[in-house]
Amino acid sequence: MRIKAVIEDKLNRLLEVETADRFTVESVYYRGDTLCISTQLGCPIKCKFCASGSKGLIRNLSYEEIILQYELAVLDGLNIKNIAFAGIGEPLLNWENTKKAFNYFKDKGLKTSFYTTGFPVKNFKELLNLNHNGLTLSLHAVDEEKRKELIPYGEPLEKILTVFKEHLDKLSKRKKKMYSIAYLLIKNVNDTDEELEKLAEISKYLGVGVSLLKYNEIEDIPYKTTSNEEYEKAFLKLKSLGVKTTLSNRYRTRKIGGCGTLMVNRLNQKSEH
Ligand code: SF4
Repeated sequence: MRIKAVIEDKLNRLLEVETADRFTVESVYYRGDTLCISTQLGCPIKCKFCASGSKGLIRNLSYEEIILQYELAVLDGLNIKNIAFAGIGEPLLNWENTKKAFNYFKDKGLKTSFYTTGFPVKNFKELLNLNHNGLTLSLHAVDEEKRKELIPYGEPLEKILTVFKEHLDKLSKRKKKMYSIAYLLIKNVNDTDEELEKLAEISKYLGVGVSLLKYNEIEDIPYKTTSNEEYEKAFLKLKSLGVKTTLSNRYRTRKIGGCGTLMVNRLNQKSEH
């Protein structure tokens, strides 16, 4: 494996790593200390809003391919203190290799966090019990029908939330702070007042905060981002309902390396300079 290309803007540095069978997989370096890495070539979950899953799954990455994203980034001179399993792929669907890579990163003293859809639930239960440094459940919808529409491949939301709740109930207040739910706000798709009220209910039921994400529009995907005013309104609504809410940070809302923008074999390599 080798770094094939680096695309960067003022905030993010996107590394395209070429595999032996000539695919490219992407990792993103941001905040001057964090590397977001991929676990699969493509993604079988095929979330409707995400470029990474648009072609489905090509194959799982091996353990070596997962950790090489980090090792190559270090060789490239990057200072890395945190690893986020939040790039291309659902870590729980390449679970054995992800666990091995997680142990490798922990042995190196790196803080390691996960983003997951919670599927398969059997592996989600194991992930909950790992000695991780943060776990965010990607919710994006508050009822089964809408979630199935946005995240087509998975298990019922109710089943995932029940397992999550059982785990959270055993934790101290301090430990619970490592957990959150992510809600990607998409214009006219999941942004009604009723949906935000239900989101607040779920957040309170679980006892965790909400990471309210702003959608990055992607070529060939019809979803639209909410305006800044609508986004702020949704944030204030959740706050007024007593939910601890955070907004997308500036690294997540980039054309280069922002959430949902990573692709296998990127076609358009224009930089944002
Ligand atoms: S958002 Fe994550 S789980 Fe969904 S298709 Fe993209 S990479 Fe896969």
